Amino acid sequence: MEVERWLEVDDQMRVGGSDWLYAIGDVNGRALLTHMGKYQARLAADHILGKDVTATADRRGSPRVTFTDPEVAAAGLTLAAAREDGINVRAVDVETSATAGASFHGRNTPGTTRIVVDEDRRVIVGATFVGSETAEFVHAATIAIVGEVPLDELWHAVPAFPTRSEVWLKLMEAYGL
Ligand SMILES: Cc1cc2nc3c(=O)[nH]c(=O)nc-3n(C[C@H](O)[C@H](O)[C@H](O)COP(=O)(O)OP(=O)(O)OC[C@H]3O[C@@H](n4cnc5c(N)ncnc54)[C@H](O)[C@@H]3O)c2cc1C
Repeated sequence: MEVERWLEVDDQMRVGGSDWLYAIGDVNGRALLTHMGKYQARLAADHILGKDVTATADRRGSPRVTFTDPEVAAAGLTLAAAREDGINVRAVDVETSATAGASFHGRNTPGTTRIVVDEDRRVIVGATFVGSETAEFVHAATIAIVGEVPLDELWHAVPAFPTRSEVWLKLMEAYGL
């Protein structure tokens, strides 16, 4: 699909300043993913119902999963994208399988987990989980990113033992908390 043919919409999904024509999904070129089209649909419906809404989630690095083996699951900005946006960022990398819970998914299976931290605000702006069945990791990262949860608060979000979510603990420790 050529960029020129996308329907430009505003943050309420209205086309070209129209007050009645909405365009959601791939056709507007904002985020070519099923779940983001559904998000835009909910947002457009809310706006049609008169609610004061503004789309943000399809502008800052939508959650995305590449269903390969190993899987690549990510949310928010990559390190390169964050730097392009002029954010003062630091990447923190740990082995995705470096937890007790990972034993149940194959000990020492390959893959790296990375968070991208905005050092000025001390919040996570991006996360990528590579490894065995990492797709379900990504929503925790989405919540941390959208909620702009400070790292010092995230330190108190204790992952249960022995789950693979302890990768968050490894990340916080590697960051220096
Ligand atoms: C190989 C592949 C894998 C993907 N995997 C994922 C995934 O794992 N997860 C994910 O979130 N997204 C995935 N996507 C992207 C996802 O499919 C799209 O983002 C999503 O389908 C967009 O939905 P849509 O309703 O906007 O458009 P579409 O699903 O493209 O629907 C548009 C519909 O309009 C019809 N149409 C077009 N022109 C006309 C016309 N003139 N008159 C009437 N009807 C017309 C088309 O036939 C089509 O049925 C994948 C895409 C591809 C190609």
